[in-house]
Amino acid sequence: MKDDLKTILTRHLELEAFYAGDFSIRGAPCTRSARTVPSAESDAMCPTARPQKSTPTSDIATLQAPPLDTLDAIAAVVRQCRLCRLSENRTHAVPGQGNPNAQLVFVGEGPGEDEDTQGLAFVGRAGKKLTDIITAMGLRREDVFICNVVKCRPPGNRDPRPDEALACLPYLKRQLELIEPKVIVALGAHAAQRLLETDQAIGRLRGRFFEYPYSNDHPPAKLMPTYHPSYLIRNYTVETRQRVWDDMQKVMGELKIKPTRGD
Ligand code: SF4
Repeated sequence: MKDDLKTILTRHLELEAFYAGDFSIRGAPCTRSARTVPSAESDAMCPTARPQKSTPTSDIATLQAPPLDTLDAIAAVVRQCRLCRLSENRTHAVPGQGNPNAQLVFVGEGPGEDEDTQGLAFVGRAGKKLTDIITAMGLRREDVFICNVVKCRPPGNRDPRPDEALACLPYLKRQLELIEPKVIVALGAHAAQRLLETDQAIGRLRGRFFEYPYSNDHPPAKLMPTYHPSYLIRNYTVETRQRVWDDMQKVMGELKIKPTRGD
């Protein structure tokens, strides 16, 4: 995990340096005027005078990378992130929000239009349905943490592509590592498949607990895949509602919480 984060920060800093034109210059400041015609001799005297094509990796270590030791630090990096093409069309990145000490974390696949507009996870129609589920479980949104696998909206609400999910996944893994929830609910196929590293259908995965290992000595979280609230809205049948509620009752049993209502 630490290697993943190092890679993210390294690539992030490379991109930032590139876009800002802030090429790394080592050693003593060069006094040669920028208008001086360069020569082989003057370059030898002042080897940093010519702009480098990119920041060498060795120089990146000298830059101040923010340690991703808090959820706020992760959110700050996510908001500046350009590691995949999803950064190109976003209005706001959506790092996720909620209780940093939550025992329960909900993970969806990616932000939609409302989330992109507000920079908050699950605030549209699906978000309202998720709020209904959380309330029915006897909890409030402030009690849990809510986030997504990809932090920027895929255009037209298409599914996140595998390379986009892979680029973004270390942020989610680090968030989970910091929160250390007892239970993770993966909402929909994409979240479940990414976190469990499987391509099995959500219909086969949902309804039972899997182990989600942390990279430290903390015991693994229990991971419950279930249907995404958007799927629930599109297929608002007694069977689908019952399956999601059954899944959530297992989560409540694990967390030893009592329901406020049972439909
Ligand atoms: S989706 Fe993730 S990896 Fe891609 S730009 Fe947004 S924060 Fe970065």
